[in-house]
Amino acid sequence: MASNSPIEWTSSTWNPLTGCTKISPGCAHCYAERMAGRLQAMGQSNYANGFELTLQPQALELPLRWKRPQRIFVNSMSDLFHKDVPPAFIQQVFAVMQRATWHEFQILTKRSLRLLELAPSLPWPSHVWMGVSVERQDYTFRIDHLRQTPARIKFLSLEPLLGPLPNLNLAGIDWVVVGGESGPGARPMDPAWARDLRDQCLAASVPFFFKQWGGVNKKRTGRELDGRTWDQMPPAAATRPPTRVNPDASPRTARPSPGNPTAMEATAVED
Ligand code: SF4
Repeated sequence: MASNSPIEWTSSTWNPLTGCTKISPGCAHCYAERMAGRLQAMGQSNYANGFELTLQPQALELPLRWKRPQRIFVNSMSDLFHKDVPPAFIQQVFAVMQRATWHEFQILTKRSLRLLELAPSLPWPSHVWMGVSVERQDYTFRIDHLRQTPARIKFLSLEPLLGPLPNLNLAGIDWVVVGGESGPGARPMDPAWARDLRDQCLAASVPFFFKQWGGVNKKRTGRELDGRTWDQMPPAAATRPPTRVNPDASPRTARPSPGNPTAMEATAVED
């Protein structure tokens, strides 16, 4: 739905559905909810229902029209595996991703059990990355669910990090992103938690990406950890073969414009 995302670890966002409901402590200050309210107030048609879960079938084929290869975050404004999303619609989303071989897609969910249940009915091409969000120790079961899926690239978004995650089982995990909560009411992240996760990743040779410290003003706190940024990516991202561009694709890549509020969707990061 929007390209040129400011999210540090992706390049574009695509929202074939919008809206969600809260499921765990990481959702308390959901950025997508705040953004959906703003877009609704601006009269953006995709957000006429605000943050109520809404399928956006007219957006399904957008990535096929984006000719330039991009790394696309799927559903920055929702959760694809929400219980109210029909399996047939999820299959349609995956069918588009399967066809759009010149992009890489990054899906992130907190509904790991539903992911696990539906995974056998979905195609898993190598350019589709699958991740789960884990904010606290009592939600690490999501990692076990992810591990059982056939996704080629499996990743963790440990954001907003709300507690320590010692002794993580990183077997089969290809990438870890860590970040503190940002925005109004942001809950603090202890630097020791982030350092420990970096060290666990280094010890397990898992690429580590430090997204942000967060806080009320995340620009002020930045994204350096111990004097440097950590922008490691999965090896597949670096060694990906030359992209093949869809010959049927439109020559123009969708771009946000000042009058296009969908560009604002790209700032929604808490999956
Ligand atoms: S979009 Fe993500 S953070 Fe927001 S309510 Fe849904 S699962 Fe929670």
